[in-house]
Amino acid sequence: MGRLRVLVVGAGVVGASVARVLSRYENFEVTLVEKEPDVGWGVSKANTSIIHPCHEEDPGQHPLRARLCLEGNRAWRQWVRDLDIPSAWPGEIMVYTTPEEEREALKYVKLAEANGVEGVRALDKNELMRLEPSVSPEAIGGVYAPTAGLISPFEAVVAIVENAVDNGVRVMLETEVVDVKTRGGRVVGVETNRGFLEADIVVNAAGLQADYISHKAGVERDFYITPRKGQYVLFDEDVPVKPGRILHTTPTPKTKGLYAIVTVHGNLMLGPTAEDLPRDARDDFSTTPEGVDYILREAGRLLREVPGRDRVIRVFAGLRPEPPGGAWLIKAYQDPWGFVNAAGIRSPGLTAAPAIAEYILTLISREYDVKLVEKKGWMPFRRGITRIKGRSAEEIDELVRLNPDYGEVVCYCKMVSKAEVLEAIERMKKIGVKTITLDGLKFRAYVGFGKCQGSFCRPRIARIVSEALGVPLKDVVVKKAAYGVGDVKPLWRGGA
Ligand SMILES: Cc1cc2nc3c(=O)[nH]c(=O)nc-3n(C[C@H](O)[C@H](O)[C@H](O)COP(=O)(O)OP(=O)(O)OC[C@H]3O[C@@H](n4cnc5c(N)ncnc54)[C@H](O)[C@@H]3O)c2cc1C
Repeated sequence: MGRLRVLVVGAGVVGASVARVLSRYENFEVTLVEKEPDVGWGVSKANTSIIHPCHEEDPGQHPLRARLCLEGNRAWRQWVRDLDIPSAWPGEIMVYTTPEEEREALKYVKLAEANGVEGVRALDKNELMRLEPSVSPEAIGGVYAPTAGLISPFEAVVAIVENAVDNGVRVMLETEVVDVKTRGGRVVGVETNRGFLEADIVVNAAGLQADYISHKAGVERDFYITPRKGQYVLFDEDVPVKPGRILHTTPTPKTKGLYAIVTVHGNLMLGPTAEDLPRDARDDFSTTPEGVDYILREAGRLLREVPGRDRVIRVFAGLRPEPPGGAWLIKAYQDPWGFVNAAGIRSPGLTAAPAIAEYILTLISREYDVKLVEKKGWMPFRRGITRIKGRSAEEIDELVRLNPDYGEVVCYCKMVSKAEVLEAIERMKKIGVKTITLDGLKFRAYVGFGKCQGSFCRPRIARIVSEALGVPLKDVVVKKAAYGVGDVKPLWRGGA
């Protein structure tokens, strides 16, 4: 068998991880296809960002989820180092406030044993307060899981894709798969808005749209995804409420509970809600006063003090791709030969992504009889953008001497220099981004990420993009729509 052309649909954390893992082998020629102008704009962008310890997975009910969650938690420790992904490993505490919740929470100590999760134990009130003084005095105890971590989920996808591209993966953005083509019981390629793409193997990692792609391949016609909304409240970096651990309420059948975390960028974040939406509401990212009220009320059961609404800098929502019965659909089919599903990857999909990718590699090798040959010179490492924030004055002076653009600060909330924005633009071009968006720069260079949420720096960033790309300022794109009209005072046009 010659090199297999593998086409991965969807550049979220799952598709990106699959592409990276397959890029280790001579056997595959990998193309990662994404409908959006950039990678990581789906479910992987807006979530709680936790690398779960996995003591909440029931191995009796969801054995694959439980196993891949744990393997993923372990794999991320290596991936964040190799790929320079912002991360922290503070551990988490499931807090309980009633005897009923205590009974529920203690079940997870047993599940931890069944799953092989290390160090999970119950805390009495004294120990809880010692370990985490920011916990609400209403709490009567907790379950501590020391192996929980946090990553920057959108930067994780960017990092994985950059590394995959360095290892030969081709990325096609703004390319929407509209059909999966088969002939004689085998996959032959996909139809896209940009024409037909030939492939021997198609891996469906299309997140919220994965059920539709599966139906196009003629499999799992009864499998449907339900979008389950999760709203979040993000606070200013300088609010003093900073729990040292990940805190959350006792899980319910629908969610892992409400979380209070300090993101890897230093912001207190509370959420998510869990609201099932109609099947076709897969682009409803609206936030509601009721959602925010619920979050702040529940947070009052977790935290000694919840910061005021005046310290909120952003409210946003993500959609979970909820599969029937909560079961991930990961399978390599014989009919059609070459079609692989990685569908319905709800939480803990971020945690499990590296392990899901390894599992898919095993499935492809086993089901399609591929004798894997490792690539010589495969490069595991990738470095992040050179930043001025956090450096000493001497170090910044040295950077400015090498490149004066490090001396021009363009975002004061996050202390970002023009050089960082220009580096982000070059990195976007390198992975194949055709439309350089302000959102893409925000998630790479952190411009517009702070207290002002871009109201101060956005016109400057738009001007840098306009000059770097030679496009009129009015045509610079925020996310999907153009920034505004005129180059004196760019106007918000909405819809972006
Ligand atoms: C509110 C919330 C909280 C969560 N919290 C956590 C957590 O703390 N920890 C954890 O482990 N997990 C968490 N998760 C789950 C985790 O975010 C997901 O499991 C994971 O991000 C799914 O990744 P994915 O690659 O499958 O999907 P996505 O990131 O959505 O990627 C799919 C990609 O496919 C693209 N696509 C779709 N259709 C097409 C098409 N036809 N052609 C081309 N491209 C297409 C999309 O644009 C998208 O970019 C949470 C999820 C939510 C919503």
